[in-house]
Amino acid sequence: MKEEEWKERKVVIVGAGAVGSTFAYALAQSGLADKIVLIDQNRKLAEGQVLDLSHGLPFVPTVQIRSGNVKDYTDAQAIVITAGAKQKPGESRLNLLMRNAAIMEDIVDTIVGQNSPAVIVVVSNPVDILTYIAQKRSGWPRSHVIGSGTVLDSSRFRYLLSQHCGVDIHNVHAYLLGEHGDSEFAAWSLTNIAGMPLDKYCPICNKCNDWRREQNKIVNAVRESAYHIIDYKGATYYAIGLALVRIVGAILRNQRSVLTVSTILDGEYGLKDVCLSVPSIVGQKGIELIVEGGLSSEELNALSQSASVLKSAIAELQKSNNTVTQRKI
Ligand code: NAD
Repeated sequence: MKEEEWKERKVVIVGAGAVGSTFAYALAQSGLADKIVLIDQNRKLAEGQVLDLSHGLPFVPTVQIRSGNVKDYTDAQAIVITAGAKQKPGESRLNLLMRNAAIMEDIVDTIVGQNSPAVIVVVSNPVDILTYIAQKRSGWPRSHVIGSGTVLDSSRFRYLLSQHCGVDIHNVHAYLLGEHGDSEFAAWSLTNIAGMPLDKYCPICNKCNDWRREQNKIVNAVRESAYHIIDYKGATYYAIGLALVRIVGAILRNQRSVLTVSTILDGEYGLKDVCLSVPSIVGQKGIELIVEGGLSSEELNALSQSASVLKSAIAELQKSNNTVTQRKI
């Protein structure tokens, strides 16, 4: 019998700040990766995070953690980009976006230059626009360049529904779709508990008087949750760290998990040339299938509204910087 070649499960994290390091911490505990490499333009920060994380190695499944460089892209299975610039006092949203777009283009050029076989997972915000830029810039198949999209928002949604309904979060199936941002919406048509759509489940449960009113409250709470956390503690990183373990785990183990990652659409849901989140099957090669259908006409309208918001942002960016997405040859 031919022995299968052992393949190291290597994850490179670009950006060793709050999100990158929290993801590394959660990934180390998960036992899903053999090697975790941290890269940051602030080398001392990357080194410091690596030392701190490595001192916990006796307490987690075997994994190697080290700082790295661009050569590490060549044999990575997943490259997770959390690098980003912070808003300067008085800086416009567009200027910040232009700076983050330039950072993304540089990183993607380097990854492509190293002939990396990895799936790129973009996390930096605005995640849908930066995923679009990363995808166009790379020239790679769209399946290989994905954004964390609304995986985090969907988990916030499931949490709030589980709290409201008093049901184990693992038995609440629910998705937030569209932009990772204000135009995102709840796909109620795809939401179920015990295999039942909520219109059927709610009369059995009978926990609230006016379920329709509760629906809006829950979705608004999801939309506002990041603002609240940032107001309370300056940044969000724990839940996104765990969401990234879920996404990267699906890639490393070829799990073919249904996840609401951000991807460039090419006619699905009647939309083209825009990155946003819809349910997709995620495995070793990134997105293996975009699951189309199941949305009500109201939800389809919300999806196309979200696409318009994102397309306008990309158009605005392209007007201000016409080199966006064009690779230097
Ligand atoms: P942070 O400032 O703590 O970390 C960002 C890191 O990126 C810094 O350490 C910085 O040195 C590094 N960096 C900047 N340019 C770089 C480059 N060219 N190469 C390598 N490293 C570079 O920020 P954070 O709190 O970790 O957030 C990171 C990003 O993740 C932000 O854009 C944030 O908005 C986003 N985020 C996304 C989600 C989501 O659901 N998609 C959730 C939370 C945060």
